[in-house]
Amino acid sequence: MRKRIMNHLFGPVPSRRLGLSLGVDLLPFKTCTLDCVYCQLGPTTCLTLSRERRVSTPEVLAEIRSRAEAVEEGREEEFDYLTLAGSGEPLLHLGLDEIIRGAKEVIDKPVALLTNGTLFFREEVRREVLEADLIVPSLDAATAATFQRVNRPHPDLSIEKVIEGLVHLRKEFSGEIWLEVMLVSGMNDSEAPLIAEAAEEIGADRVQLNTVARPPAEPVQPLSPDEMVGMLEVFSSAEVIADWTREGSKGTRALIFDLLSRRPCTLDDLAAITSLHRNEILKYLEVLEAERKISRLHHGGGLYFQAPDR
Ligand code: SF4
Repeated sequence: MRKRIMNHLFGPVPSRRLGLSLGVDLLPFKTCTLDCVYCQLGPTTCLTLSRERRVSTPEVLAEIRSRAEAVEEGREEEFDYLTLAGSGEPLLHLGLDEIIRGAKEVIDKPVALLTNGTLFFREEVRREVLEADLIVPSLDAATAATFQRVNRPHPDLSIEKVIEGLVHLRKEFSGEIWLEVMLVSGMNDSEAPLIAEAAEEIGADRVQLNTVARPPAEPVQPLSPDEMVGMLEVFSSAEVIADWTREGSKGTRALIFDLLSRRPCTLDDLAAITSLHRNEILKYLEVLEAERKISRLHHGGGLYFQAPDR
């Protein structure tokens, strides 16, 4: 099954929290304010705090409009959320407000923003996201040392500023805020009580605890299920993010599995062969890995995915 190539839209992909999520990618690959050790997309190639008009708003809105028409006519899959996410930090795109407002004029689905939350200390950034329905920021540290170790931020960012920005966002934004905490064994788990205090101060509607699903390119380890459950004692009224709630498009998953049954492929190989967005492929790879149908293989400096019994 081949999907029509869209420049900025990907999916819908199955999301643990959002059901079927139609993604909007507003940035060149790996443009981010952080370079997290657990990033599934690999190292940040452009570490910046500079907000620019990185995509054309009319172009993005035209794609959303055309997808909305296709869904209405039954030519494309329904989705639950339109999600601003993608290959880097969406807050680095200047003009998010125009995209959120424009999208809400053509679709009747909620608009979610997945963000690392690092730029909310700037008032103008907070103003641009006020019309979103849901903001899902992350917070993995409460001290400078852990922020450096886990998130490896741009040198002009401080964890105090990040937390302060999230506190301001909560006061000004009337939609839901779900704060995600990514726990990495031996890196930020001992700081959990301090992160929990910061989460309390922020006052998000939900606190969602996550851990690295599979070791990405870097040698980082997840917390065990028992350790994750133990974290519920540390974070009051938090939840451990459950597994996939939906399976997504079986056709796409079957296509990716079929390719990996023939030969091991890198993420880039799969993107080139299928014309799918890397983020979309990653979601399916994670589902296939969780089902133990495929595994990872490090070879010649590259990361490959393979079906073990091919
Ligand atoms: S904030 Fe997200 S995109 Fe940026 S490095 Fe961290 S995990 Fe990757």
